[in-house]
Amino acid sequence: MTSTLPAWLEVDVGAIRRNFARLQAKARVPLVVMLKADAYGLGMIDVARAVGVSFEDDQHDAAHAPWAVGVSRLAEASALREAGCSSRILCCAPLSVSELGDAVALHVRPSLYEPNDIHRWRSLSGGPWHLSIDTGMSRAGASWTDVLSQPASLEKALKVSPPEGVFTHFHSADCSESSMVQQEERFARVHAALAHALPVDALAHLDNSAAIAARPHGSPGQLARPGIALFGAREVQRLALEQAVHLRARVVDLRWIASGDTVSYAATWTAPDARRIATVPVGYADGYRQSFSNRGEVSVRGELCPIVGRVTMDLTMIDVTQVTCELGDIVTLIGRDGDTLLSTDAVAERGAISAYELLVGLRLRLPRLSIGGA
Ligand SMILES: *Cc1c(COP(=O)(O)O)cnc(C)c1O
Repeated sequence: MTSTLPAWLEVDVGAIRRNFARLQAKARVPLVVMLKADAYGLGMIDVARAVGVSFEDDQHDAAHAPWAVGVSRLAEASALREAGCSSRILCCAPLSVSELGDAVALHVRPSLYEPNDIHRWRSLSGGPWHLSIDTGMSRAGASWTDVLSQPASLEKALKVSPPEGVFTHFHSADCSESSMVQQEERFARVHAALAHALPVDALAHLDNSAAIAARPHGSPGQLARPGIALFGAREVQRLALEQAVHLRARVVDLRWIASGDTVSYAATWTAPDARRIATVPVGYADGYRQSFSNRGEVSVRGELCPIVGRVTMDLTMIDVTQVTCELGDIVTLIGRDGDTLLSTDAVAERGAISAYELLVGLRLRLPRLSIGGA
């Protein structure tokens, strides 16, 4: 990849397409691709096209297309529609009642659970919608205990306005299979309690990326909702995912410093002897967080070099004393550099942040280059 940019993010849409295929094979049910937050910072429209989401100007292969795109905000749905997206769009986060009119206009499937909102949706002549059930996440959805103890008002709303789907969300699929089992049981009980009010063919969906990875025989229900794994993080081993992002920058300054000299704000790093310091134009304004200060590693010509001193807003310094390095050299901060891999998960762990936060932050300022396309 040759680029004259000072710093850039390569998004490997081919890798994302293959990660989608692996998720699809493991889940064995149609997928709602979660492309909220600009596809976790990587570019919603490019990613949507990469995984075969239907666009008006595309010869798409409906058999392999995702069942829907998942978003969290109407603005995200609006950007998809403006780009010509003709796919189903499911908004998984709750909308305020004042947004429901716009949701109708955008042909968005909202997640509803308050009987008043369900009645309002019907009075607006809204289309298909999904019933959200809270089985332990405690952030949105009808509380499973409330549904079991007082189902009447919800049942009444469901009979008047039957949902297309019903779903819940796992809180610990990545770290506790027993919690998944517990949430699944709660979901099944709610489903059974509402059975006479739900359409027999209501589409049930539960699984996020980690849950899909944990299933030996495919996802339960009729749909699954992967996000992070599409982008090559979190379930890398179990799903044989490919690294899909590469953060690169060019060395813009190179200098020798003497023993006792310090680097960057607050002088948190002192050279123990003469050192060669390279500066790259990436900082926390690019999503390369300050928690990488004195902890992160980057690759220079395939060799790992440590970050020294604080990561600043626009610039980060590395110790290149042990390697060959010249002005203009391309440094890899995330991703593959020849045989060296700085995986998204490994980098995030170094910075004591989640892979989600690392990816989403990369949207701040870095120009994105799409690579690996057909
Ligand atoms: C973000 C999100 C997902 C995807 O989660 P990942 O861990 O990224 O796979 C699925 N469902 C809902 C409701 C979400 O908000």
